[in-house]
Amino acid sequence: MKLFGSSGIRGLANVEVTVDLALKVGMALGKSKKTAVIGRDPRVAGEMIELAVISGLMSAGCDVIRVGLVTTPTLAYAARNYDCGVMITASHNPAPDVGIKLWNSDGMAFDSVQQEEIENIIEKEDFVYVSWNMVGKISIYENAVRDHIDMIRSHSTGAPIRVVIDCGGGAGGTITPFLLREMGCEVITLNSQLDGHFPARNPEPNDKNLWMLKKAVKEFEAELGIGHDGDADRMMAVDENGIFLSGDEMLAIFARYECKENATVVVPVDTSMIVDDALPGSTVIHTKVGDVYVAEEMKKLKADFGGEPSGSWIFPRISYCPDGIYAAALLVDIVKEKKLSLLRDELPKYPTLRSTVVCDNSKKAKVMEAISSKLATMGDVSNIDGIRVDMEDGWVLVRPSGTEAKIRITAEARKNVEELHAKVEHIVQGCL
Ligand code: MG
Repeated sequence: MKLFGSSGIRGLANVEVTVDLALKVGMALGKSKKTAVIGRDPRVAGEMIELAVISGLMSAGCDVIRVGLVTTPTLAYAARNYDCGVMITASHNPAPDVGIKLWNSDGMAFDSVQQEEIENIIEKEDFVYVSWNMVGKISIYENAVRDHIDMIRSHSTGAPIRVVIDCGGGAGGTITPFLLREMGCEVITLNSQLDGHFPARNPEPNDKNLWMLKKAVKEFEAELGIGHDGDADRMMAVDENGIFLSGDEMLAIFARYECKENATVVVPVDTSMIVDDALPGSTVIHTKVGDVYVAEEMKKLKADFGGEPSGSWIFPRISYCPDGIYAAALLVDIVKEKKLSLLRDELPKYPTLRSTVVCDNSKKAKVMEAISSKLATMGDVSNIDGIRVDMEDGWVLVRPSGTEAKIRITAEARKNVEELHAKVEHIVQGCL
């Protein structure tokens, strides 16, 4: 039974993610854990799901520590003092969704083996009901946000710059504006009242959704704009001219700041070459697409920095959980030295072309096999996630969609990207 995706359990509240399921997740998790810290973002169904998970944990004898309404990085940081963490969040998904994400004490999300253990217990209904006098207890941990802020401040100096923060109605409103004010910033907030209906914008912090932030940064003559997703593990930025920075640009700017010579940086396989070219002398390692895979590889390699262009930045000195709040504080430190637009101008610019080809799900495996043998002659092939071929002046990635009947093609090149993209698209079409 597959309940977990790459980012935990997520789906439509009361239809896909129900109290029944949440109760079972709590019962399964409580079987092997003595203590669990639990928090939630402002999703409308969040408290309902949280209470069901709590009941399940307690029935198995696990003590529950509640931190209330927090961001995912705050919860993951709080997990350091307990056997595990539980975050009720649907991250950047639309408002009707809710979800459950499980955390280890080191800030690492449950990996696929741990998730399968939970799924197996639920499938076999292999639950434990402790005796009446062993039922878990609930306590409240009031200082989770304060402790998270203090940890970040011990790594960041701050600056008296003007910053606009768009929390999108999400959990970032509990922490980022307060932190940046403590760091000496003049903070202007947008959409920082928590509201699980997300009335102002879709929670995903992309170029289109952050239109209000871009406008506000210009109108208030701010030096920086920060946008979060619903649970603030993600963070994207807008420069002093109100221009949104792409995820690849952000990744390169953070990596340059974080990495000295001979560093190891971990990124997903669809990341731009600008990251490689921005870090001469360092090693860039590719993983499957998904921040959990990036975090796992970083831990294995003891990497210096890693991230995903979607807005997830992982700083191993603090945690393996992407921390959009810490990233915002760090960006203030970066921007006080040099304007964000100038930092972007220092990066190389390469054109990227993307397209999709319709392919029936049942045929995907066979088609990918045929494509693989044809692409093998073009350069160095890797099969980490789809097929990536690296050439001297560019790369292509051919990847079957996980959710739709499509195959995705991405091509990036220092020159003649149209030619490269057309050639690969022709090969893919020929294999259908
Ligand atoms: Mg998120």
